[in-house]
Amino acid sequence: MKKEIFIGNVGIGGHHPISIQSMTSTNTKDTKNTLNQIEELKKAGCEIIRVAIPERDYLNSFEEIVKKSLLPIIADIHFDYFIAVESIKRGANGIRINPGNIGAKKGLNEILKAAKDYEIPIRIGVNSGSIEKKYKSKDIPIHEAMVLSALDYVKYFEDNEFDLIKLSLKSSDVIQTVKAYRLIDKKCDYPLHLGITEAGTRFGGTIKSSIGIGSLLLDGIGNTIRVSLTDNPMEEIKVAKEILKVLGLRDKGVEIISCPTCSRITVNLIEKVNDFEKKILDLELKKKIKVAIMGCEVNGPGEAEGADIGVAFSKKKGYIFYNSKRIDTIEEDKAIERLIQIIRDKFL
Ligand code: SF4
Repeated sequence: MKKEIFIGNVGIGGHHPISIQSMTSTNTKDTKNTLNQIEELKKAGCEIIRVAIPERDYLNSFEEIVKKSLLPIIADIHFDYFIAVESIKRGANGIRINPGNIGAKKGLNEILKAAKDYEIPIRIGVNSGSIEKKYKSKDIPIHEAMVLSALDYVKYFEDNEFDLIKLSLKSSDVIQTVKAYRLIDKKCDYPLHLGITEAGTRFGGTIKSSIGIGSLLLDGIGNTIRVSLTDNPMEEIKVAKEILKVLGLRDKGVEIISCPTCSRITVNLIEKVNDFEKKILDLELKKKIKVAIMGCEVNGPGEAEGADIGVAFSKKKGYIFYNSKRIDTIEEDKAIERLIQIIRDKFL
């Protein structure tokens, strides 16, 4: 089992469930919009949020965001140790640095001292583009070089009596990422932050992240995840939640079962399922449920037997079933609302 750290009130490692992170895409100086985005992301299921501090003159806004944020905040810092130290003093719940680009060791030591004083965890984020020079060699596979770089930093932190560590070894190459995490998982007990860096668009990035993060989670590797997409961060949360639900790592929420449609279809099922998905996004259910939304009555309930509740469409009607028994028949255009109402009554 991995060591336990806390980002604000969210535990990572130990017995804690795998947490979902994202990063604000607003300008950190625009505190109003940043705080609004954090609130939206929290509603969608985000548990920890990362905020970039690109320059020193962003620190005042960062401080205000930390004070008002509904989620624990990780400060994301590159190059300037002073920003890292200040962000800790101004209330960051955790920081993310790539020690390789912080510059002289003196700066890194200042960061370690501040993090120790304030008991703030540090994520050591190594990626394939920031491998230590000494490990850049044709003879060392990139995933191994990433692991060796990360372990050097771990040793340096430990030598400085700092162990509130979390690690990430990301690459935009899924296979490289998976290999790197598998290797480091065997080598140390610090919690791991999983992600495929610069994964790409909503479509391609979702596939890459699902395969990469999903494979590792299936191996029992990983303590917190961030799906990174070139899209609204709300999409990242949706994908992250889905990955965890599908792997049985979330005990709350809705898993949708819907058919691919065929010639038996008499309804615009794609529209209905998307409408349902949008409307249930912030439903806080007591448990995890499977909801089937099927295109016809003939195969619908049968194919969706594993579902807790569902609807099958046929001849302008929606047939709602619960525990494999039909419990209601309703006009097609009212069926999704009715389904959501029953879910609210039975599972909220
Ligand atoms: Fe076709 Fe009905 Fe199966 Fe959907 S549930 S794929 S409409 S047979």
